Amino acid sequence: EAQHSKLREKYHILVEGDDIPPPINSFTDMKIPSVMVKHLKSKGIVDPTPIQIQGIPTAFAGRDMIGIAFTGSGKTLAFCMPLIMFALEEETKLPFERGEGPVGIILCPSRELATQTYENMMAWTAALHEGGFPALNTLLCIGGISMAEQSHVFNKGLHVVVATPGRLMDLLEKKRFNLESCKYLCMDEADRMIDLGFEEDVRTIMSFFKHQRQTLLFSATMPRKIQDFAQQSLIKPILVNVGRAGA
Ligand code: ADP
Ligand code: MG
Repeated sequence: EAQHSKLREKYHILVEGDDIPPPINSFTDMKIPSVMVKHLKSKGIVDPTPIQIQGIPTAFAGRDMIGIAFTGSGKTLAFCMPLIMFALEEETKLPFERGEGPVGIILCPSRELATQTYENMMAWTAALHEGGFPALNTLLCIGGISMAEQSHVFNKGLHVVVATPGRLMDLLEKKRFNLESCKYLCMDEADRMIDLGFEEDVRTIMSFFKHQRQTLLFSATMPRKIQDFAQQSLIKPILVNVGRAGA
């Protein structure tokens, strides 16, 4: 335990909450396949950043989490990797059939951010597939992109949806797919999401979940609104705050 505190101190990681998983400062020591570690290395991602050091083990442990870290600190990998591993686990247990899924949703406040996150998901799942892991299907769900264009994604079941809240709500209400087997919800740039007035949409999306879900909220800042929202929507969350919050 003293060692964990030392590691957190070294990386300026502040944590709050009960039963916090140990930080891990090497990708090799995380539950990430070696092909993935190799792929990351080839992209210049060699050592985890502080939000990844504490955030990835926290998300892997199935815990709700509030991740606060400045822009450019690698939050995308911190919430995508645990979801990818969870989706692979589910797919390996019982391959998804047409019409099944998704198991995880990533919500973004803008089309641009959703598109970027989707591109990251595509690159990472492709690298894993090339390394012998099952293929995962990711749907990008933003205004201006039709479902028909992505109909191939539904052929073998859907694993992950990256979406803006309004567009996702619209598709859920039209019953294009459902969240009955969905267990992971991540809100990226939650501060912007709330500032842009998406809070009600996010609550509506939450009401479509049928299972107990793991909820993660990532933000560059931690205003009152985020704290209140987290208190209402997360269960026994772990707060991971990486200092130097320049925002
Ligand atoms: P944030 O969402 O926190 O603003 P991003 O997830 O967009 O940050 O990552 C910012 C950049 O840092 C991206 O180009 C990403 O590939 C890169 N990156 C992520 N993790 C690492 C890492 N561990 N080491 C080096 N670069 C990284
Ligand atoms: Mg980001």
